[in-house]
Parts: sequence; C-alpha cells; structure tokens
Amino acid sequence: MSDASGQIDHVLTEDRSFPPPAEFTERAVFSSQSQYEEVYARARDDRDGFWAEEAKQHLHWFEPFTKVFDGQTSKVRWFVDGKTNASYNCLDAQIDAGRGDKNAIVWEGEPGDTRTLTYRELRSEVCKCAAALTEIGITAGDVVSIYMPMTPELPIAMLACARIGAIHSVVFAGFSSESIADRNNDAGAKLVITADGLYRRGKVLPLKETVDEALEKSPTVKNCLVLRRTGNDNVPMTEGRDLWWHDTVDHQSDDFPAVPLDSEAPLFILYTSGSTGKPKGILHTTAGYNLWAKRTFQWVFDHREDDVYWCTADCGWITGHSYVVYGPMAAGATCLMYEGAPNHPAEDRFWDLVEKYKVTILYTAPTAVRAFIKWGDEHVDKHDLSSLRLLGSVGEGINPEAWMWYHKKIGGERCPIVDTWWQTETGGIMMSPLPGITATKPGSCTRPLPGVIPSIVDETGKDVDPNHGGMLCIAEPWPGMLRGIWGDEQRFVEQYWSMIPGKYLTGDNARMDSDGYYWIMGRIDDVINVSGHRLSTIEVESALVSHEAVCEAAVVGREDALKGQAIAAFVTIRGREPNEELRKELKMHVRKQIGALAQPDDIRFAATLPKTRSGKIMRRLLRDVASGREVAGDTSTLEDLSVLAKLNDDEA
Ligand code: ATP
Ligand code: MG
Repeated sequence: MSDASGQIDHVLTEDRSFPPPAEFTERAVFSSQSQYEEVYARARDDRDGFWAEEAKQHLHWFEPFTKVFDGQTSKVRWFVDGKTNASYNCLDAQIDAGRGDKNAIVWEGEPGDTRTLTYRELRSEVCKCAAALTEIGITAGDVVSIYMPMTPELPIAMLACARIGAIHSVVFAGFSSESIADRNNDAGAKLVITADGLYRRGKVLPLKETVDEALEKSPTVKNCLVLRRTGNDNVPMTEGRDLWWHDTVDHQSDDFPAVPLDSEAPLFILYTSGSTGKPKGILHTTAGYNLWAKRTFQWVFDHREDDVYWCTADCGWITGHSYVVYGPMAAGATCLMYEGAPNHPAEDRFWDLVEKYKVTILYTAPTAVRAFIKWGDEHVDKHDLSSLRLLGSVGEGINPEAWMWYHKKIGGERCPIVDTWWQTETGGIMMSPLPGITATKPGSCTRPLPGVIPSIVDETGKDVDPNHGGMLCIAEPWPGMLRGIWGDEQRFVEQYWSMIPGKYLTGDNARMDSDGYYWIMGRIDDVINVSGHRLSTIEVESALVSHEAVCEAAVVGREDALKGQAIAAFVTIRGREPNEELRKELKMHVRKQIGALAQPDDIRFAATLPKTRSGKIMRRLLRDVASGREVAGDTSTLEDLSVLAKLNDDEA
C-alpha cells in the first residue's frame, strides 16, 4: 500500500476463470500443466542447451552456430557464427517440408478482389523482387523503407529484403510525408517501396504523392519502386528515380537463392508507434528474432496444419512483422490477409471474412473489439463464426467486460482467448495463456512463455511481494530481444538498461496474483498518485467500462493541491445522454466497484478518444488536456487531432 516503496495499489478484483475445453486440450501443443512446467524449467535452468536444440530443430542453417549465447544485458549475440536466412526459413524450408502447394497467403482486397499464393508461388514472387532489388543496387546492409497497402506485395517486399540481407523499415501507410521523411533520414534509407494508392473505405488515398513529398526531404533515398494497386492514372513518376513494380520486378527470374546471413545480421528496423514520445527505430536481427517469432506463434496459437489463421494487424506494426509474416510463415501456416477497413462496405466485414474463409484462429486488438461492441451485435449475428477455435488479443490491456464480449459473442464461449503481452522491443509474445492448458482470467495475460523470466520490482530494484504492483522487468536475455535503437546507443542503454541494473526495463507496470498470473497495470508513466496511493489506470478504466453506458474509458492524473493528483476520466458512451446525472452515476459505479479511493474527480465525455495510428489510447495527451496544459511532444501518430480540440470543449 505504501507509496515510498514504488509499489502500485491493486484495486480491482476479477475472479472469473475459464478453463480450456477438453477437446481443445486433447490436441494442443501444450496439453498438460506439467509439460509446460517442465519446458519452462528447462529453458530457465539450461538456457543455452534449450535454445541450441530449438534453433537446430526449427531454423535452417547454412552454417551451424558455434556458441549459443554471448554477452550480457544490452549487448548480446545469439547463435554466434551461424548463418541462416529468414526468407529461406519462411519459404524454401516450407517447400522442402512438403508445403509447396499449400496456401501461404489468402488475400482479399477492400473492393473484394482476391488472390491466393501457395508457398511455392510466394517464393517465386519474393525471388523476383529480390532480383529486382539487386538490380536497383540494393545490397546487404542497405535500408529499404516500405510504405504500402496490405497487399501481398508488402510481405513479398519484406521477405525480398530479408532474402538479400537488406534491412527493411516498414512505415504504416497512414503516416504523413513528414513521418516518412523522418524515418528515411533516421535510417538512411536508400530505396522506398510504395504503391500508387491505397483503398480506404472505398476511397483511394494517393500514397505516391505523399512519398514524393517525403522524398524532397530524404536525401539518402536514391530510388522509389511503385506498385500499381489502384490504377489511378495521374501518378507522378520522376525519371531516373521512380520505377514501376511491374516493369522492374515481373520479368525477373523466379529463382534467386537466399543469401546466407550472419545470425546477428540486422533484419529490420521498426519505429514504434510513439504512444510515449518521439518514435524510436527498434532493431531486430536475423536468427534469434525469427526463432522467437516462429516458436511463440506455434506455442500460443497452437498451430495445426489445417488452420486458417488471421492476424488483423497491418504489417506496419510489430504484430504484422512477427505474426503476419515471420512467425506464421516460418511455421508454414495459411494466413488470411485483408487490405481494408473493418467497416467497409459495412460493419460486418470481419465476420463476413471469417465466415467466407472459415478462419480458425483470429488475432486482433482491443481497440477493434471495442469498436465491434459499439457497432452492435447485429453485425456479428448475421454470420456463422463456428469455424473459429481460438481468439487472440494484443496491443493494449483488454478490459474484462470487452474480454467477456469477445468470449461470448465471437468465441461462442468455446474458444480460448490468448491475451498476449509483448512489445516491439521483445520481438514476439512474452506472456500469454497457452490455450490448451491455461485457465484464463479476463484481463490477465497469465504466465510467461518458456525462456521469459519476468521480475516485478520497486524503484530500488527490489522484488515486490505478490499482489503488489511494480515495474515489470525481464531478468534474463531471450533470443527475440531487441539489439538496439537504430543510431542511438545512448537512448537504448538509458531507456531499457540503466534504471534496474542487469534487467531489461519494459516500461510497463504489472502485478502477479496468488496463482502466479500476471496483470499488466499500464505504463509506468501513467500511474496516478492519489493521496499517497499509486493507482493503475487500467483498473479504473475497467471499472468504468463495466458500466453499460461506457464504450471506452481513459483515465489520467491531473495535479491537485490536496490529494497530489486527482483522477480525470475520459469516456465515450452509448445509449445515454452526456449529462450531470450520468457523471454522478459513473462516479458512484467506480466507487462501488473499487472504492472511494479510485472514484474519478472529473468525468469528461468525448466523441472518440485520441489514439495512435495503431489504435492505442494516448493517455499522455489526455494528461495535458486534463490539467489544462498544451499538447506536448510528438503528435505525428495521432489518429485525429480534432478529437483533442473536441475534448478541450469538454462535452462533445
Ligand atoms: P512507444 O514505445 O513508442 O510508446 P508502444 O509502446 O505503444 O509505443 P508497442 O511496442 O507496439 O508500442 O506496444 C507495446 C506496449 O503495448 C506494451 O509495452 C504495453 O504497454 C502495451 N501492450 C501490448 N500488449 C498488451 C497486453 N496484452 N496487455 C496490456 N498491455 C499491452
Ligand atoms: Mg513501448
């Protein structure tokens, strides 16, 4: 309870528990608790032995590694001296394993056009693209920015870079020319791959024009490769710089051997969404990352040969890297890929896709789940979702009430939900239920995966007691960990490795309950200090969301002379008028759910909450709004700035 120790009060009690159905457990990768305990203990107690076996069995090696691990804390090398290639692991290795004619990508465009690519066909396309990149003059170690719609050519471009050792930097195709230029310059990109346009809710967004503006401020970029996607006529092409994909790629040879690359060869840079400030280029390397993405995919999604797996994330985010491309493809999965908006032409598009393609595994984000709830059950009820057997969530904490809706409405109460906690920095999932064995609790990411040693500490670095919240660290290195922030060693060391000696600082708060389950309590920066009690945002938000009138809630602290900080809550509502009566009701509701301590001082109604492009609530901005300060920091990732203006007017 005390503030001085840096611990966080745990206020909301959630004791619902959902064991997996027996028929799921029977066929699961992890099918007994003792099996998990055994593997977990092995990975912890004989780390190098465990990962040596994993790497030998699950990656292809042109040359074997001589040492499993070398280094400490921020400076590590995994699978030293080994040579492998992520594109080979995702393509050639699958064909060798007999999956040449299996669908790798089943794609649907927003207008309804479709394409499927078998592993053999995907390899051919990747080879052509790799040959084209080589012809353009891209070699190993060069950085290629990719700014594309979610067409098959996006993973093709990523895998083509990986095939020749070029480093890709995927920039989400909703970012501005400013953001593209910043990322080009920070990374020293030599080439940008883009498209003539992007379909969004029936309209065409002119991607190439945006890239052109960025290129005026991107001196390192020599060429621009342009995919024809929307076919709009007036695409400006600059002679000598710009090349059409169909002129450059299509005629190339469909057999371009993967280049043997060092285990630690950089695979990609990915700029994080910037929920907390200036975007940073997270660097991942080849072998360790690829292995982590593959194995976590197989464990957490319990992958079976006949699954139709759909991760709804855009390749512009880490989830798209690890769980649209490198994880599932290294595991030979069939991946559904959808280009457009979830509400085009109507709010049932996702459920239409699930029904049409008989999706068995669906992995999406809480922001989407909250939107579906808001749009209404009738869109779900129209469709047969019985093909689904497993659901996943990622990106933010999922409020228990949203979890329950996902469980009942989408999962038909038969699909386990894997609430996966991880970060761009971690490369892949770190904590998650294992769907065959873990009894899930709404709002908890449950237990660490094998190889993950979490530790929750106070500000002095001392472990906190169970049920107390503190800073979440990872105590031991794991293969998928980030290797740096591109071009900023100092920030890398300061941000992750300085505060708690010897451990990786995640930047999130968490607590472990008496069953050994972990609960993410929000970001360290978001903790609210009320009269000496440190409260987690997610718990107060979850209490608000459990009220039937509340769709979404964001809770922040604002200065208060008396209490240190007061609690300000921003909510979006449905079915009720935003008035004083509802305000009082919501305050009382939180008081009843949690206690007087957590009762919000202010309740502000909003049309929508400000979010990053990846759909996460930006509490940082709301803090400033709540305390009447101006909006500070980098706002390039805001979904809609007018939202902030609206919030400033209080009632929207
Ligand atoms: P930036 O680091 O630039 O501020 P970001 O942290 O939003 O951006 P990501 O790496 O995409 O960028 O997100 C990781 C963060 O998302 C985690 O640190 C955590 O705060 C949150 N998160 C992800 N998954 C979960 C989850 N299952 N439960 C709770 N929080 C989650
Ligand atoms: Mg982060």
